Amino acid sequence: MATTYAGAEHRGSGGVDLSPLLSEDEALILQTVKKAAAEKIAPRAAEIDELDTFPADLFDLFRELGLFGLPVPEEYGGVGARTILFCKVIEEIAAVSLSAANILTQQTFGIQFLLTAGNEEQKKRFLPGLASGELHGAGAITEPEAGSDQEPMRTTALVDGDQYVLNGNKCFITWANIADVMTVFAKTQPELGRRGISAILFERGTPGMRIGRLEKKMGLRGSPTAEVVFENCRVPRSNLLGAEGDGFKIAMKSLNHGRLAIAALAIGLAQGALDYAWSYAKNRVQFGHAVSEFQGLRFLVAERATEIEAARSLAYRAGMEYDVKGPALPKLAAMTKLFATDVAMRVTVDAVQLLGGYGYTREYPVERMMRDAKILQIVEGTNQIQKVVISNHL
Ligand SMILES: Cc1cc2nc3c(=O)[nH]c(=O)nc-3n(C[C@H](O)[C@H](O)[C@H](O)COP(=O)(O)OP(=O)(O)OC[C@H]3O[C@@H](n4cnc5c(N)ncnc54)[C@H](O)[C@@H]3O)c2cc1C
Repeated sequence: MATTYAGAEHRGSGGVDLSPLLSEDEALILQTVKKAAAEKIAPRAAEIDELDTFPADLFDLFRELGLFGLPVPEEYGGVGARTILFCKVIEEIAAVSLSAANILTQQTFGIQFLLTAGNEEQKKRFLPGLASGELHGAGAITEPEAGSDQEPMRTTALVDGDQYVLNGNKCFITWANIADVMTVFAKTQPELGRRGISAILFERGTPGMRIGRLEKKMGLRGSPTAEVVFENCRVPRSNLLGAEGDGFKIAMKSLNHGRLAIAALAIGLAQGALDYAWSYAKNRVQFGHAVSEFQGLRFLVAERATEIEAARSLAYRAGMEYDVKGPALPKLAAMTKLFATDVAMRVTVDAVQLLGGYGYTREYPVERMMRDAKILQIVEGTNQIQKVVISNHL
């Protein structure tokens, strides 16, 4: 269903016909998501950006639609969907609101650490709640001095009897203030540097944790990003994911899926921005013609549309590699994240240009889309770090 936004038509992520790629059941899920995106999410997009408060109603909507269970195997209360469907669902939502789609990718970010390294007891304890949306998930890796490089991480988790005692500061942690379960990365053996990092499940309400500053961001508004302080927080040793010292490996492995999710956000956002801008250009008359008739703009849009399809093909290829647990996943996930997010940045900048002065105002969604695109080049490893990863695999 088409949605009208300030005079131009918005078609969601439209584009390719996926029927040969999706089963009937998968197509049905996607259809439901498309409808919800047009009817319930698109009308909220500008408001979420303006108010910058967490859209709990959309979290509830995704819970009702059963979307949090998509990447979770059936034995833990999920759907066990193929990654292509997961990506496609994110694309559809991101085409109308990146902040809304990020709800789904953020919950999956929390889920991935458990899928990667949780033991049976931990998975049974937390995954059904995360899959149903009863619980909110998060992951805390970044610190003021440990961004792209985790070696200087200062947060420690030292053993005291059958507990870890957590001390340290994390920054830029998405949903830190609302997460029920957060995987915290901390050094259990500080003298070992990166090899001394462990991943520990941290539950809401544990004494000694407090939320610091909430960041005021350029885009991705409505997704709370906060500092976290741990002061002598006691966590049972049974909350350790994997073995002590596995933290870095767990983070890297989990990020493979996270990078695909970020790419899907980027592809959806880019498609949404291009569809909107092109639709506008078809209706904007200058020099006696719709501006979409000028070859300068037609070639621009042809190039950007081609890039979006290329990013989409790469994402589906990487998604297949994830599903079969193929060895090329780290390289493909990094390539996909790098390429798709750079495409989203280019497309959204050009979408503003296509609308001329109107594109620069908050009356039209492309201004928000351009601000939103920037974060995708930074999170889950900056795009420079993706190049480090890719070159290391060549
Ligand atoms: C909105 C938002 C949400 C976030 N959510 C989370 C979250 O939920 N959990 C979490 O743990 N973190 C989160 N982060 C943190 C994010 O992952 C980091 O910001 C990111 O990894 C980069 O780290 P940094 O900001 O310290 O940049 P730095 O590492 O200081 O990088 C600065 C610049 O140097 C470049 N650079 C660094 N190393 C190299 C290199 N080897 N080669 C070439 N260039 C290099 C970078 O690409 C960048 O351009 C979030 C950040 C934001 C802004």
